[in-house]
Amino acid sequence: MSFAARTKKELTHIVTKPCCERAELTALIQQCGAIREGAILDLSTENAAIARRIYSLLKTHTSAALEVIVQKKMRLKKNNVYIVRIRRERIAVLNALGLTEDTLQSAIPPSAIARDCCKRSYLRGAFMASGSVNDPDSNSYHLEVSAHTERQAQAILDLMSGYHFHAKTAARKKEFLVYIKEGEKIVEFLGLIGAHQALLHFEDVRVVKGMRNQVNRLVNCETANLNKTIMAAVRQLENIRLIEEERGLHTLAPKLRVVAEMRLRHPEITLLELAELLPERVSKSGLNHRLRKLDEIAQRIRAECGISDDGSFTHSHTVSDLV
Ligand SMILES: [Zn+2]
Repeated sequence: MSFAARTKKELTHIVTKPCCERAELTALIQQCGAIREGAILDLSTENAAIARRIYSLLKTHTSAALEVIVQKKMRLKKNNVYIVRIRRERIAVLNALGLTEDTLQSAIPPSAIARDCCKRSYLRGAFMASGSVNDPDSNSYHLEVSAHTERQAQAILDLMSGYHFHAKTAARKKEFLVYIKEGEKIVEFLGLIGAHQALLHFEDVRVVKGMRNQVNRLVNCETANLNKTIMAAVRQLENIRLIEEERGLHTLAPKLRVVAEMRLRHPEITLLELAELLPERVSKSGLNHRLRKLDEIAQRIRAECGISDDGSFTHSHTVSDLV
């Protein structure tokens, strides 16, 4: 079962106050409801648990006669579609919730979202009916609620804006989306609509993912630094060995000579450790300065001997040289 399906299943078991049940039912009717030929109101969903929820909320809050129909979808995945059908009392049911046939897929009736608890319940109903959320382990964080009309999407967006979810709207094919992209805001939304188990799972995965990213960043950073340190040390050793071979270390000024000898003896240590081994106190930048001097001397030797930077000879010997 997908994370979204598990989240919805959890939501269908929530026990709440009558005012909130009505708000949730209003959202379910607005999202799942359509007026069919012959003036019947069909509430359709592919989710059996949500169909049961719609049925029980209608039983509790209306006296309408209900029919339940199961159809196999003709196209694509051939999922079951569960329909809760209201025939004669459809107008009474709608009016009791502040809706009409014309406003069914439009604005949210103010009476449904008068209280904060009911606002949350309305969002819960909307999410159950037409929402989706990516598994927190997937590549991107995404939670959405789709709407039939732009007006309806705007109404849901306005409701979400009251809780600062940073939600946005977009048109997709024949529907309109309200979506949230920030992991932190998705967690808040799940909490607000009462999906606490889903929230905990989402947070667990998000924390582990965050830590994994942080560790990777640190490792990459340290590896890069280590490579730089090693490359610098290798270069220093090459310089010193070249000077030793071509001129002898005794030709160096005493301050440079002591660094050169210490580096030859300890090729693997860091600059800071090298500085500490010197007989006199030398700062890291002071040591760097001396190493640069050694580099300049080595460069001059390379130029004089015609050695390129990587140690190979730059000018080849001609045949006559060899004879
Ligand atoms: Zn309420």
